[in-house]
Amino acid sequence: MPTSSECIFCKIVAGDIPCQKVYEDEHVIAFHDLYPVAPSHVLVIPKKHVSTLMDFSEADTEQMGSILRGAAQVAKKLGLDEDGFRVVNNMGEYGGQTVYHVHFHVLGGRQLTWPPG
Ligand code: IMP
Repeated sequence: MPTSSECIFCKIVAGDIPCQKVYEDEHVIAFHDLYPVAPSHVLVIPKKHVSTLMDFSEADTEQMGSILRGAAQVAKKLGLDEDGFRVVNNMGEYGGQTVYHVHFHVLGGRQLTWPPG
């Protein structure tokens, strides 16, 4: 797993890699996924480097809340709240996580299927 100095999402937070920002607050930023799998596909990430969902500590509770609040703000901003949308976290190998800076996908703009693959 990359440390924060090698982490692509930390570079986005630092402004060293450009992104299409949708939302930002004290704890999180949200930006369009580079390879969208739905008409709207945004990633909400903590500004602090945390590798996976399992690495949040009790002290990170406010940041975790900000991620979900941020996801709702993104959905509202993109007009996804009327028809509905999905918030997903892929954790670890079996979960399909490829970037080890925790992030929540906000997916919408089409009928999503269940169960996922
Ligand atoms: P994961 O597979 O759940 O870890 O999701 C990682 C997501 O990051 C994938 O959907 C990628 O398309 C996305 N991604 C990787 N690099 C970038 C980037 O530089 N900007 C925006 N999205 C990225």
